[in-house]
This record gives sequence, structure tokens and C-alpha cells, in this order.
Amino acid sequence: MTKAGIVTVAGKPNAGKSTLLNRLVGQYLAMTSPKAQSTRDRIVGIRTADDVQMVILDTPGLLEPRHALHRSMRAAALNALGEADVIVYLVDVAHDMVAPLEAVAGLDTPPRAPVLLVLNKADLLGKGARRALAELHPGAVYLSALTGDGVPALLAAIAERLPESPFLYPEEDLSTQHLRFFAREAVREAALEQLDEEVPHALACEIEEFREASTPVYIRAVLHVERDSQKRILIGSGGQRIKAIGVQARKRIEGLVGSAVYLDLRVKVLPNWRRNPAALARFGYSLPSDEKK
Ligand code: GDP
Ligand code: MG
Repeated sequence: MTKAGIVTVAGKPNAGKSTLLNRLVGQYLAMTSPKAQSTRDRIVGIRTADDVQMVILDTPGLLEPRHALHRSMRAAALNALGEADVIVYLVDVAHDMVAPLEAVAGLDTPPRAPVLLVLNKADLLGKGARRALAELHPGAVYLSALTGDGVPALLAAIAERLPESPFLYPEEDLSTQHLRFFAREAVREAALEQLDEEVPHALACEIEEFREASTPVYIRAVLHVERDSQKRILIGSGGQRIKAIGVQARKRIEGLVGSAVYLDLRVKVLPNWRRNPAALARFGYSLPSDEKK
């Protein structure tokens, strides 16, 4: 009998959730970044190995919502908790205290699914710190999502808690999301990597056209920012920065698509899009249902 189910990876921003998703799926699906809040909506990765299929949801970090985009990110995280068969609660033990998931997520009642406490970034821990943690959290799994240490033990602990079920998706599928979605993420990621603080949070990418049948694959993408000053930063002097972003994004998309890509990349200003429900919807960020109008 096979096992299958939804594995939701939850935790604070920067805990290593996206790094773990990529490692479990064996493909670079979710962008990872030392800058917090890079994952904005859920990323779905599928891992099928031996007799177990895990549909892994990487969620935005749980955070105090400050504007509509934050509320959308938090709603995505909470929905993913509600759908889970197993919750992998990731804590960055090198930088954060181990607090109960309910407290971190602001939940009134504990989630329905079993919660696995996973202490990530164990590669940064000294022996003494590790011993002290082991006493406090005897059932926890130690992990380095970065090096892969502890992954087999984590997989076994997840599999033990998954229900018996036929596979939910074909064995060769790595995600339920389309290339178009990953292309958008690749552009946003390249921009994030080329920029310093401030601008990245005001950045959204929209894929206006994606012609998979043409050779090379043709993609027209727009990077939206909130102000003219941000647009100037993004373009850089003589257009150097936007060119570098384009080259980096194209290479990553070519890896995903498996063939040559022509990426036509532009920058536009859309004032205050993060507070604008219509703009959020256009960029694929859905608001909690009581805020949709
Ligand atoms: P997320 O916000 O929870 O999705 O976190 P990311 O996966 O984007 O990771 C945040 C940062 O922590 C990145 O710079 C990762 O390279 C780093 N990171 C993730 N896992 C580990 C780990 O096990 N050890 C160390 N040293 N760094 C890690
Ligand atoms: Mg992430």
C-alpha cells in the first residue's frame, strides 16, 4: 500500500522553508534568499520516492500583516496549515528561540494535523548548544536544509505520519504549478539578488506572454515597482542592472524549460500596488475571502 498526503512546511521568515522544499523535490523550484519575505504565495513541490508521495507546500513566513500583500501572504500560510496531513514546523535554531507553532502563527487552537518540530540550520550549532536543545526538545528532528544532513530522518518521520492512500499526482510530476508561475518567480528572484533592501519588497513580476511553442521560447515579462525612483534603480545606469537581471532570469528559466529562451523584460511603475486589491489579484496574490470585493 502506498502513502500520500500534503506536507506543509511552516515557520518564521528565513527559517529555511524554501531551501527544504527544493531539497526534498530535488529541483530548484522555490527561490531562497537571506532577505526575508521572498516567498509570497505558496509553492507546491511533489516528491515521489519508494512508496510515498509528498505534496509539499512551501508557505510565506508567518508574519504580522502590515498591508494587503502581507494579509495575502499570511492567509496563504494559514490555508496551507489547514490543508496539511503533516506539518513540518521549521525553526532556525541558530537565530531564533523555539516557540510553539500556535504562538508563532497566532492560532487560537492547535492545527488538526500532527506537527513535527524540525530544528533547522543545525550545521551552525556547537556541540553544547545541541546538547541543551536535545534536553529541551527530545522529539525534535535536527536538520540542515543547506547541507542535507538529517534529511533521511526527516523523510522517515514524515512518511510515518502520512495516511495510506493512492498517489495524488503522476509519479513524474514535480509540481502542480505551471512554468509560467516559475518564470515569474525566476525574474523576481533575479531582481531580488541584484538589488539591496527597500526596492525588493515593492517589486512584482507579471508574465504578459509565454509562447512555449516558439523557438526559442518567447517570454515577455514586466517588473512593476511603486515609484519612479525605484524604476531608475532597477534599470541602473545605462540599463546595466536590468540587463544583468534579465540574463540571470533567462538562464534559470532555460534550466526549468529545458530549451533556449528569449526573455523580453521591461520595468513599469504602478503606484502603491501592494495596497491595491485589484493589482494584487492581477499578480496572482489572493486576499483572504472576507477582503475580496
Ligand atoms: P524561508 O524564508 O523560510 O523560505 O528561508 P530560505 O529557504 O529562503 O532560507 C533563508 C536563508 O537561510 C538562506 O540564505 C538559506 O541559504 C539559509 N539556510 C536555509 N537552510 C539552512 C541551513 O540548514 N543551514 C544554514 N547555515 N543556512 C540555511
Ligand atoms: Mg521562502
